[in-house]
Amino acid sequence: MSPIVIVGAGIIGTTLAYALQRRGENVILLDSDTPGKGASYGNMASIAVTEFMPASRPGIWAQMPKWLLDPEGPVRIQPGYLPRLMPWFLRFLLASRPSRLRELEAAGAVLCKRVYEDLDALLKETALEHMIGAEGCLSLYTDDTEFRADREHIEILERFGFRHEILDGKAIRELEPSLTTAIGKAVLFPDNRSISDPYRLVLALSEKFLALGGQLRQGTVAGFVHNGSSVSEIRLSDGRAIAASKIVLAAGAFTGRLSAMLGEPIPLETERGYHTQIMAPGITMRHSIIWPARAFMVTPTAGGIRVGGTVEMAGLDAPPNYRRAKVLVKRAKEALPALHVEQVSEWMGHRPALPDTVPVMGPSANYDNLWYSTGHGHLGLTYGATSARLMADLVTGRQPPVDMKPYRVDRF
Ligand SMILES: Cc1cc2nc3c(=O)[nH]c(=O)nc-3n(C[C@H](O)[C@H](O)[C@H](O)COP(=O)(O)OP(=O)(O)OC[C@H]3O[C@@H](n4cnc5c(N)ncnc54)[C@H](O)[C@@H]3O)c2cc1C
Repeated sequence: MSPIVIVGAGIIGTTLAYALQRRGENVILLDSDTPGKGASYGNMASIAVTEFMPASRPGIWAQMPKWLLDPEGPVRIQPGYLPRLMPWFLRFLLASRPSRLRELEAAGAVLCKRVYEDLDALLKETALEHMIGAEGCLSLYTDDTEFRADREHIEILERFGFRHEILDGKAIRELEPSLTTAIGKAVLFPDNRSISDPYRLVLALSEKFLALGGQLRQGTVAGFVHNGSSVSEIRLSDGRAIAASKIVLAAGAFTGRLSAMLGEPIPLETERGYHTQIMAPGITMRHSIIWPARAFMVTPTAGGIRVGGTVEMAGLDAPPNYRRAKVLVKRAKEALPALHVEQVSEWMGHRPALPDTVPVMGPSANYDNLWYSTGHGHLGLTYGATSARLMADLVTGRQPPVDMKPYRVDRF
């Protein structure tokens, strides 16, 4: 029998390939590059279980005009890209209806609630437990006004029972002495722990997959052979073909291009994000930090301190604009005055973003041997193990432990 082919060796595809191979399936993991070179390479390394709140919500809309007019704001739309973005943007707008919002929050919370059950099991069985840190994330506020602006987020966490602790200035500096005294309040999310190096995690998982007998292939998908109800072959850009019994498209932000080849459009966009890796930061940190009013994140990683964030809507093909990364570093220095910005590398990655924030994890509506696992947005690292667990159930015909209806592709 032909193998199962997973397209995309990011955190999503690689973790799924490992999970399926471990269940005794015969799996090929296919990517145009070596594993982990997409968005999974340089993300902010956070298992961000408290960040499932849908991006489109009335509170965001009120701030949007101010953000869009500010070239250094947290969201930037490249003017020339706006016409192409409009259909996605309309769906984004519709996702903020109050009744829909409640459903989307619940769909995200269900996944985040089981993240550690799946991640701990994965890290244990692969002996990769050393890759996750013990400390959580601090969300920073200068004063009560900034804190109140983030109140909706905290209320959602309270509603779904996610752990958090409100701290005053003294307690904050005991946890992170490098933080500026301008920070008067913080919320500690103890469960938002970090991975020491997200890229090395993908590499390590791909090695575990190979050790179980899985096969890695390098090639760019350029088309498919199908008979209308099932897909039998993947065509690569160099003319090669790979026969498949089942296919999972997990090519991150590029999955929409692949699904379009099959006549099954998915409203997938790229929310481009940036990081600056500071190899000799001159400070040490135990926790990651986010400062919602300044819209950046800092994470201590194996290779120094990583500063990142931002959302840039400019499509898959525009070159990076590293001015966005530099703005984030400037803001990080406001939080961490002693931060030395020397020996840096800059990076841009494509978050696979659906307009309603909830990932697509489920069967194709048109082909009986095709599945999608994409659109994990800002939480692909967080959802990696859970997504693999649920998708492995679906692909092998077992009943997943959660209702998968909210994650179906035919909701669009
Ligand atoms: C700045 C930034 C910070 C982030 N921080 C966090 C965080 O702290 N926590 C968190 O949980 N998430 C975070 N994310 C999001 C997370 O990185 C993504 O959701 C996740 O990496 C998506 O994984 P993926 O496997 O779906 O996609 P990718 O890692 O992008 O992998 C897709 C793969 O598909 C391959 N591919 C594409 N097209 C083809 C083709 N035609 N043929 C063959 N192969 C193809 C690509 O080469 C690539 O390897 C962040 C993202 C960014 C950009």
